[in-house]
Amino acid sequence: MKSTQPDKRGHFGPYGGIFVPETLMEPLRELERVYQTARKDPAFKKELDYYLREYVGRPSPLWFAQRMTEQLGPKIYLKREDLNHTGAHKINNVIGQALLAKRLGKTRLIAETGAGQHGVATATAAALFGMECVVYMGKVDMERQMLNVFRMESLGAKVVAVTAGQQTLKEAINEAMRDWVSNLRGTHYVLGTAFGPHPYPMIVRDFQSVIGIEARKQILKAEGRLPDAIVACVGGGSNAIGIFSSFIKDKSVRLIGVEAGGLGIEPGKHAARFAGGKVGVLQGTKSYVLQDDDGQILLTHSVSAGLDYASVGPEHAFLHDSGRAEYTYIEDADAINGFDKLAQWEGILPALESSHAIAWVIQNAKQFSKDDIVIINVSGRGDKDVQQIAEWKKEQTKNKE
Ligand SMILES: *Cc1c(COP(=O)(O)O)cnc(C)c1O
Repeated sequence: MKSTQPDKRGHFGPYGGIFVPETLMEPLRELERVYQTARKDPAFKKELDYYLREYVGRPSPLWFAQRMTEQLGPKIYLKREDLNHTGAHKINNVIGQALLAKRLGKTRLIAETGAGQHGVATATAAALFGMECVVYMGKVDMERQMLNVFRMESLGAKVVAVTAGQQTLKEAINEAMRDWVSNLRGTHYVLGTAFGPHPYPMIVRDFQSVIGIEARKQILKAEGRLPDAIVACVGGGSNAIGIFSSFIKDKSVRLIGVEAGGLGIEPGKHAARFAGGKVGVLQGTKSYVLQDDDGQILLTHSVSAGLDYASVGPEHAFLHDSGRAEYTYIEDADAINGFDKLAQWEGILPALESSHAIAWVIQNAKQFSKDDIVIINVSGRGDKDVQQIAEWKKEQTKNKE
């Protein structure tokens, strides 16, 4: 792997680590042991490559977005993770973790999900490998992502509605952790993003690094040189770290992470952890966290369920402080504009999450010259979001009247 490695206890600089109850220490150590053996085992790599190629449909294309380029100026390429089986980058990580679960002798997969994409990917892998599957999802998220709930249930998974707190991703992670503690023997917890206690941030990054490895080869083939910037949306941070990881050592490549600005940077109205957060510990890891002065976790808001979370992967916190990557945010209305523009310019409906990255490029194209090359990671497709976008637009019209 080309990226920076965390230390033995999973720290990226001061961030990351393992903050869990004693009962979870052994399963985390076991997971790390199995992973460290697997990553060096050519048979594991061969098996993973097989499923990524024949089942997921990799490599995903790097599409030269000609009409978008004509509109905006710099040469824009889109890394098409939306074309993966199940419609997002999540499956890259899930296939890897399901193969690890097989090596661990586990027959039951559990997962948390926000937008539902990770739940769908996990339910898919469970069906593929003949495993049992339970997905925890906040009740609010279930309502805004009904299509994905139906997909998971069709795939044979049980979807458990989580009704605690804000009824979104944070509470779903708590429930998944609780399940894991009680069912350690046969269960693997498939964490969906580059977050949580070590070794998850490292494992998820490594499984998502296929995005960056491919993008690097593809841009060198198309342009004969590295890009000037790579732009990706940041929820927990897995699609972003996956594409960034192959370019971290190339200082000439700007790495730009786009968080959810929601309704603006006021407490409770957004999920821009670097704009409004402070260092703290949440759900097993140390990173930037949206919290009040007493350390209580703040409410978050984003039109996009997949970005709506109070903390962010520890490697991003490290890249932020070191200045190697830049983090910024896009508000709901601009993200929806990004969705519309990509649909009309390129015939591609991006996920609302990915629309944040697209919107950032639309707003900031003037920073680049005509010869500059910008790659946007289109982390997923937007079919799951069309109903929500329609409702959002109806609301806007009503407010104007
Ligand atoms: C889950 C999801 C995200 C956010 O998760 P990351 O771990 O930050 O990548 C972004 N885009 C899509 C399409 C998703 O499903």
